[in-house]
Amino acid sequence: MALMEDVMSLCKRRGFVFPGSDIYGGLANTWDYGPYGSQLKRNILNFWWKTFIDDRDDMLGLDSAILMNPRVWEASGHVKNFADPLMDCKNCQERVRGDKILEEKLQITIAGLSNDEIFNKIMDEKIKCPKCGKLDWTQPRAFNLMFKTYQGVIEDTAEQIYLRPETAQGIFVNFKNIIDSMRVRLPFGVGQYGKSFRNEITPGNFIFRTREFEQMEIEYFVRPENAEQYFDAWVEDYKKFFADLAIPAEKLRLRYHEKDELSHYSTKTVDFEYEFPFGWGELMGIAHRGSYDLDQHIKFSGEKLQYRDPMTNEVFVPHVVEPALGLTRMFLIVLLSAYQLEKLENGEERTVMHFSPKIAPVQVAVFPLQKDLSAEATAVYKDLKKAFRAEFDESGAIGKRYRRQDEIGTPFCITFDFDSRDDASVTVRDRDSMKQERVKIEDLKEYLAGKL
Ligand code: ATP
Repeated sequence: MALMEDVMSLCKRRGFVFPGSDIYGGLANTWDYGPYGSQLKRNILNFWWKTFIDDRDDMLGLDSAILMNPRVWEASGHVKNFADPLMDCKNCQERVRGDKILEEKLQITIAGLSNDEIFNKIMDEKIKCPKCGKLDWTQPRAFNLMFKTYQGVIEDTAEQIYLRPETAQGIFVNFKNIIDSMRVRLPFGVGQYGKSFRNEITPGNFIFRTREFEQMEIEYFVRPENAEQYFDAWVEDYKKFFADLAIPAEKLRLRYHEKDELSHYSTKTVDFEYEFPFGWGELMGIAHRGSYDLDQHIKFSGEKLQYRDPMTNEVFVPHVVEPALGLTRMFLIVLLSAYQLEKLENGEERTVMHFSPKIAPVQVAVFPLQKDLSAEATAVYKDLKKAFRAEFDESGAIGKRYRRQDEIGTPFCITFDFDSRDDASVTVRDRDSMKQERVKIEDLKEYLAGKL
């Protein structure tokens, strides 16, 4: 877990992530994204949007409301089924999720088990309390994860609504609007990102599991007979997406759910898992959900959520493949994958974040070698800032400035020195190799564009 602590400490020190409500002693498991963190998160999101929406002809974007008619969550099954088995240790009052302690022990996902089955298995396997080591559990109680709130001035159950626990339902609820307004043809997908809320029983591991988080979800609508093919295509698309963000392939694995662990509506599900410092954990899920969600909304809303094939006039409810990725969880994986404490040849150490240049919060930093070169260096900086995320730094020794930029993962540092006045060139230093190269100022933009 040393890696997690190092990353958390860097996050606080360098303005990536701060504990929420810090000056009031915090609020458990809430986090605020600081100047570099909010930029990095936005860059990941933008790259996702560009990859899966802007650059494709079969994808559309959506931004639906967090607050929705409570009937949505009845139709989706969240009111009835979105519950975790909550168990307490009678000896020390430690609270756990029954399914999670079982999963950890057996190394499987156990979505299909009833609370009784979970309890019996825990007793069979003699899974003791992680805190006090006793085997003295209460029976699991179903704990609904949806945050409840009230709309309007009267705190009456009639006005009770929920904070959405996922972004996906906003897409299904707008299926008809999209079909009617956009003249789409199957297969097509809709992607949206945004905040989701779950009253998690055991949040933790920094931003891995929080009660307020962000998701980037896609619903990809297909003819039923093509679902398998598109399912596999999405797995490949996401492999590429992770590789593009410099996530090492050996840190990722695919885990296909067994038939008996699938959610009741899903015919096929695969999780991308990442090797976190605390073990393998889910990064995202890709599920073939059949026509379950649209069918449920047809039943509950009475609307015809169907597709008419323009060639054959055939009318049917499309099937859907859902790649669901957490933005804040992805952010954590980007941090963990990028972090390196490097021993240098001269015996010194440096901390480097090897972010992909596409998403690094700062892409290029410009330094004057000495303060009296500031004006010329500022001119270079101002020009680069028009095209790149750039930062100017003139304080401290050059070595110190490099270290500061390494810690926030800036791929290139540019130094304007006394020779620059004569040769109209600057020194460009590469974050990863630490190699330096002399580049003409007039060629800088082209040089960087080729590398960023
Ligand atoms: P878990 O089993 O970890 O509770 P899940 O299978 O319920 O997660 P999904 O409902 O499939 O998760 O949500 C899709 C994605 O949203 C997850 O893969 C994860 O990246 C992200 N996510 C879900 N819950 C949280 C959370 N509490 N905090 C941060 N990210 C989350």
